[in-house]
Amino acid sequence: MNTSAQEILKIHFGYETFRKGQEELISHILKKEDCLGIMPTGAGKSICYQVPAMLLDGITLVISPLISLMKDQVDSLNEIGIPATYLNSSLSERDYIQTIENIFHRIYKIVYVSPEKLLSDSFIQLITNFPISMVAVDEAHCVSRWGHDFRPSFCEIASVIAKLIPRPIVTAFTATATERVKEDIIQVLQLEHPFTLTTGFNRSNLYFSVQSPENKKEYLLSFLKQHPHTSGIIYCSTRKIVEELFTFLEGHSFSVCKYHAGMSEQQREEAQNAFVYDRQEIMIATNAFGMGIDKSNVHYVVHYNMPKDLESYYQEAGRAGRDGDKAECVLLFHRSDIVMNKFLIEQSCSKENAKKEYQKLNEIIDYCNTNKCLRKYILEYFGENPDFENCHFCSNCNSEVQVTDITIDCQKILSCIKRMRERFGAGMVTDVLKGANTSKIKELQFQTLSTYGIMKEYSKDTIRDLISFLIAEGYIKSNESKYPTLSLTPLANTVLFEHKEVFIKKKIEKIVKPEKKSEKAQDSMDYDTELFEILRNLRREISNEAHIPPFIVFTDVTLKQMASFYPTTEESMLHISGVGDVKFEKYGTVFLQAIKDYIETKGKDRM
Ligand code: ADP
Repeated sequence: MNTSAQEILKIHFGYETFRKGQEELISHILKKEDCLGIMPTGAGKSICYQVPAMLLDGITLVISPLISLMKDQVDSLNEIGIPATYLNSSLSERDYIQTIENIFHRIYKIVYVSPEKLLSDSFIQLITNFPISMVAVDEAHCVSRWGHDFRPSFCEIASVIAKLIPRPIVTAFTATATERVKEDIIQVLQLEHPFTLTTGFNRSNLYFSVQSPENKKEYLLSFLKQHPHTSGIIYCSTRKIVEELFTFLEGHSFSVCKYHAGMSEQQREEAQNAFVYDRQEIMIATNAFGMGIDKSNVHYVVHYNMPKDLESYYQEAGRAGRDGDKAECVLLFHRSDIVMNKFLIEQSCSKENAKKEYQKLNEIIDYCNTNKCLRKYILEYFGENPDFENCHFCSNCNSEVQVTDITIDCQKILSCIKRMRERFGAGMVTDVLKGANTSKIKELQFQTLSTYGIMKEYSKDTIRDLISFLIAEGYIKSNESKYPTLSLTPLANTVLFEHKEVFIKKKIEKIVKPEKKSEKAQDSMDYDTELFEILRNLRREISNEAHIPPFIVFTDVTLKQMASFYPTTEESMLHISGVGDVKFEKYGTVFLQAIKDYIETKGKDRM
């Protein structure tokens, strides 16, 4: 690797080694090639353009749709001694003119700009005769109508680049990896023979878990008690549930804030800041919260309700553990969530879209019902082919499994569906198996079927759970519509006619979650929690004074390393991940002093 890139990483960012994919992308950029980097959230895309920006001659323009993030990104860069600024609609006219003047005087190496500002005549005029060495497009999936955040203004970026002489290197980054989006990015941004790198979707530091507790509130209370003094997000499907949970958790003295579209802009901003600046620990929110939030120390994301599809789920859950620390993503599943989502689809979708939405809904229901490794399920959903059966780091892999033979029950259900001519949904099939006495059943003469009432000793919930399981395992197909009908798959025939046995595995999650030995799961590090708290408070003071979020001063991972290795000299402090020369100069002495004081009060021998 280019040693200078390594030096920038160490001196400015304070990191010893590049993460997967970073090094390769950077070396291609430094060879002046266009690049397309597809990496999941938290993988470290920014460094891929920030490091080469420091090594290329002119200025790097970073085009990003996330205006609310720009200030934090620029603050972070300035904190580590990289001259950067931003141009977007949030600037006053005076600041805008000043910034343009500074750009003209080549004060910055990196300029973040919104696509709207990039397209403005005055800006185009400024940059046409200016040494722009690279244009990096962040969130590049916004160019694609197939992506989830299409922005028409992104389609104009290429026409601006075409005006720049010489043509700068063009790089694009996204976490969305479908083929269509990829092709659109290359075509719409007119990337020239781009070096394309996909690191895969896996977020190895995230522990995935699906739970179906009898009482979600009770579960949540016990979960939160096990995660004291850490930041987390609880997503709910409606504003009403957000309000209800907020009152409930506040009543139990948890440090909570809330966020949903029914609040005023000011209330939302206050809540967001309270969370980002670590003044409140738990954010309870609808999916309106999160886009444009870069808080790196979110230690868990709980979905109190099942979201509408796996894309939304992975994106929201992915807001945990951006700093590489071990984090938990829990989905609380109850059948009523299905009803709620169907209602939402009906409310908001056209007929053509509804079909697609139902299909996606069924896929996330399957995720909640499967006994397979959850990580593998997600990765396969996104088109990957993981080379493992079990990740050993999700609630399914971490469960004691009680195996029960359900072949007979399975045969009863499949045979009932067949006798009902595969034209009815789970509710009706359940009623027939249960032997319900409804007018609909009488009207259709289903009481005469041999399967009528053959599962009467089971509760309706149990029968529904078994049907869901058989759908998830591929014995039953549920078509995608508002009222899905059940039909049998070829696999069902193996049970009905070829003596195939079916087993259900009841999961009992082990209380103690295993430690993941991975580069990213840095929480497996033992650290002194008392010292960590002292350092956290010190960080909070600095952050309040400087008006920058605490994680920009130092991430939790960096503080945990300090609380693990007790650095007391400049040299040892510079070995801590996240402490580069620039940050050391700013904060090194105060943190060193805090550690020395702590050691002194505790007595050296006990360290
Ligand atoms: P993305 O844009 O892909 O979501 P970021 O660029 O925001 O991710 O990076 C996520 C976090 O990972 C940041 O806190 C960043 O400083 C950290 N990070 C990036 N690269 C490295 C590295 N090589 N070593 C350690 N931490 C890194």
